[in-house]
Amino acid sequence: MILARISRAIREQNWFAVVLEFVIVIAGVVIGFQVTAWNAERQTQADVSDLLARLHDEIIDVETVRVGWRDLVQPGLTLEMLQGVSPLLLGDAEPDRQLSDAECRAIVQSHILALPPQILPILDELEATGDIRLIEDDNIRSALTNQKQRFERTADLVAQMSLGNTALPTDFPAAFRFIAPEDPQNWNPIFYGSVQCDLSAMRADRAFLNRYADYVTRFFYYVETSVHSTDQRLGELHTAVDRALGINHEEASE
Ligand SMILES: [Zn+2]
Repeated sequence: MILARISRAIREQNWFAVVLEFVIVIAGVVIGFQVTAWNAERQTQADVSDLLARLHDEIIDVETVRVGWRDLVQPGLTLEMLQGVSPLLLGDAEPDRQLSDAECRAIVQSHILALPPQILPILDELEATGDIRLIEDDNIRSALTNQKQRFERTADLVAQMSLGNTALPTDFPAAFRFIAPEDPQNWNPIFYGSVQCDLSAMRADRAFLNRYADYVTRFFYYVETSVHSTDQRLGELHTAVDRALGINHEEASE
């Protein structure tokens, strides 16, 4: 129809009409392109919002699982006990008390470095699809790119620190004695079992004390890296995502 109008205007040598028709055609094309670009932009914004919302859900999930894991495994308490008994084990003065059941169990468990939950499944997806480039927030993008490598590094580190760790009661049988359980069906010797520690035998055995010092060191770095540092990094990522999504948990919980 436009072509018919243009050719008629040319035939009639109505140049004003010719120009006007061309302007209408070009403006139509430009507006068409612009609308497509706006739609694409809106779609990208919606995609980024979806990504961030999913990332936020996954962060909350992993934080919740970590809290449950910490309550169950209590690595901080084990470390506190391992460090706390050092004067009794290594001190020059004769100890004025025996090790408590909980302290003895902490020593028995000191070779076990269990990796806390730390997976964010969306990280693999962002890497595979390249969608990470859609996220414009620098804090979130750099936190995400680092997070995956750091998770892997933490897992490697914990695996390395666990390498060669063997149970102290196996290597130093004179220092420990597992006693017959009251309920054999419910017996978890290392975690909940009734093990007895012989403090004098431990103090008299240099090899035991050196191994104990080595395990406290490993446990210290294990808690620092896999628990504290990871919690801190997850917290920073969570804060950045909250800010991008306009979420305020404190307000929500009031
Ligand atoms: Zn949040």
